[in-house]
Amino acid sequence: MEQLQAIIKASAETKSPVILQVSKGARNYANQTLLRYMAQGAVEYAKELGWEHPQICLHLDHGDSFELCKSCVDFGFSSVMIDASSLPYEENIALTKKVVEYAHQYDVTVEAELGVLAGVEDEVSSAVSHYTKPEEVVDFATRTGCDSLAISIGTSHGAYKFTPEQCTRDPKTGRLVPPPLAFDVLDAIMEQLPGFPIVLHGSSSVPQEYVDMINQYGGKLPDAVGCS
Ligand SMILES: [Zn+2]
Repeated sequence: MEQLQAIIKASAETKSPVILQVSKGARNYANQTLLRYMAQGAVEYAKELGWEHPQICLHLDHGDSFELCKSCVDFGFSSVMIDASSLPYEENIALTKKVVEYAHQYDVTVEAELGVLAGVEDEVSSAVSHYTKPEEVVDFATRTGCDSLAISIGTSHGAYKFTPEQCTRDPKTGRLVPPPLAFDVLDAIMEQLPGFPIVLHGSSSVPQEYVDMINQYGGKLPDAVGCS
């Protein structure tokens, strides 16, 4: 409730569209019915604060099955992510397409993922990252019909970030430096899918100069110090 208060107040004050995002674990914890009406309450609250047409999205982060995504669609989410990136390519396409076909009937948008991020997010985890292959993105987006695509260029999720073995040591400061982000991969993907919404996860520790570079390659993160 306190998070919603802060988010909705700030959004209403700046009239900024906002995405309320929950993970599978958070949804289980909160209870899906309560969550649904909290989101509706957020819309009403925004109106009360003088925001005439609030643009508030309720989004599922890292959905891991058709059943979970379907349930979120049925319970009033406006957007879901199906993360089948740990599956083989064709299975990722098949599952993502199935979610898209269901969700689009209800005007719900779908975020998909191609390529694997290192780290842990909720119950989805991976020890290694595999960069998204730029030569696959057009085929993937076309065949699945997804509305946005999360890609992997070396950012890392959540609690663990990178192991010391994955880092190099700065000879001057002695500090561990994480592997550089693969901007060439980002650039190649942007070239393949111009204007298509690309999502970068696990970017909470991306330094400001990298954020500037992301923007240079087509990103839109003004003054961002991090996101999901
Ligand atoms: Zn993520």
